[in-house]
Amino acid sequence: MRYKSTRGGLFDIASAEAIKMGIAPDGGLFVPGEKVSIDKVFIDGLVNDNYRERAEKILSFFLTDFEREELRECVTKAYGDNFSSPDVVPLVRLHEHLHMLELWHGPTCAFKDMALQILPHFMVKAIEKTGEKADIVILVATSGDTGKAALEGFADVDGTHIIVFYPNGGVSEVQRLQMVTQTGRNTNAVAVNGNFDDTQTGVKRIFNDEGICKAIEEKGYRFSSANSINWGRLVPQIVYYFSAYAELLKNKSIRSGDKINFVVPTGNFGNILAAWYAMSMGLPVNRLICASNENNVLTDFIISGTYDRRREFHKTLSPSMDILISSNLERLLYELSGKDSGLIRGYMNDLIEKGFYTVNDSIREQIQSKFWAGFSSDRETIECIRSVYQDYGYVLDTHTAVAMDVYDKYVIYTGDLTPTVIVSTASPFKFNQSVAKALFEDEAEGLDEFELLKLLSEKTGWEIPVGLKDLDKREIIHKTVCDKDKMGDIVMHFLNV
Ligand SMILES: *Cc1c(COP(=O)(O)O)cnc(C)c1O
Repeated sequence: MRYKSTRGGLFDIASAEAIKMGIAPDGGLFVPGEKVSIDKVFIDGLVNDNYRERAEKILSFFLTDFEREELRECVTKAYGDNFSSPDVVPLVRLHEHLHMLELWHGPTCAFKDMALQILPHFMVKAIEKTGEKADIVILVATSGDTGKAALEGFADVDGTHIIVFYPNGGVSEVQRLQMVTQTGRNTNAVAVNGNFDDTQTGVKRIFNDEGICKAIEEKGYRFSSANSINWGRLVPQIVYYFSAYAELLKNKSIRSGDKINFVVPTGNFGNILAAWYAMSMGLPVNRLICASNENNVLTDFIISGTYDRRREFHKTLSPSMDILISSNLERLLYELSGKDSGLIRGYMNDLIEKGFYTVNDSIREQIQSKFWAGFSSDRETIECIRSVYQDYGYVLDTHTAVAMDVYDKYVIYTGDLTPTVIVSTASPFKFNQSVAKALFEDEAEGLDEFELLKLLSEKTGWEIPVGLKDLDKREIIHKTVCDKDKMGDIVMHFLNV
């Protein structure tokens, strides 16, 4: 399998090179050059595999320049004791048609671990394979969860340095503490005065700043990305869609070949794009349901075909989805346009210059035939956390509640009772403030984050995840705050350039 850029500048590189670079030099994203197709026999063959075996099989279609033995080593290191569930991603049945795919049993309690526990292992191999001499500097913009997951994954990994930028005041207290207490000789975390889009734009600007790139190169460094624009982030996410399907087959909720729906709480469009890749490979999917919070730019896009970022940015109770520029959509548009990089360059230019673009009829119709979209307000999200707890004794985090609320709307609107998997992206303990308030309003009053963790655990009988338990007792290591136009200077400072 060879990779190419969505903007047409690079069109024949190995996966190791794509992972090492992160983003293409022309500003585009790397996509696989050929379609991968699997059949029923392949899917049936996954039923008796464990998660690691499923991962090895699926990764081998895309990372063809990695030996099978190397992939085995990567998945073994990535998906082991660091996950609190032996299933890695347990599938929990809520009722007859509805299942929760819990992607948050990794060390940082959000689904980002699914990709970021394995990306550093890919990166080390990619550095070897490409004969890279420079140290790789991973720059990350985070709305909260990616930052910690990336720090955790790359901490003390030889040949790498990681710098994470997060919006000052734009992440939960637990998320902030997770990042600023990160140990590891190669880690940095910085608060940026701005929102997530400012932070992401700042990081993209550093990648494209020839002056900075040259200066760090002379000191033996080279940038890469651990955001979901990196193909090495996206490809491990394809695995759990197959795994969920195999689990449903295994517990006889569906029969071989039956179609299912996935509901994905969406921000940067990485997670749901992985679902689309799984479907395009042949996984039987009826609908991909794209769930947004009040930053509902994707809802409007899927309904109208116009992507318009000229709107107010809302800080919501699901901060990891507070995003108005969903970077990974570019990959979907490229695939659906028949790989027309000229068209994609035009759309992306319009987005920067005019603030919006409208896709052609063919792309819009293809999207509407497979995707359904809706959004949930903060009030509806809280109401959903309450009602699901009342009805099922199941505790949702705010992001997963957005998905659940949009699913309820989908069923009312369409009457579709196809077996459905809700992609559950975070532990409720990670967003304990909102969750505890939703469920135990009076008792939660006046408690700090750590008292809330205890309250939530005592009341629900759910255990506090190890990674969150003693956060308040750890030393604060990272204290840097910077303005959004100073991010480049900070990078140079950390690298002594
Ligand atoms: C990152 C994140 C999302 C959004 O995922 P995308 O791949 O950016 O669409 C949803 N929920 C949680 C908890 C997250 O951390």
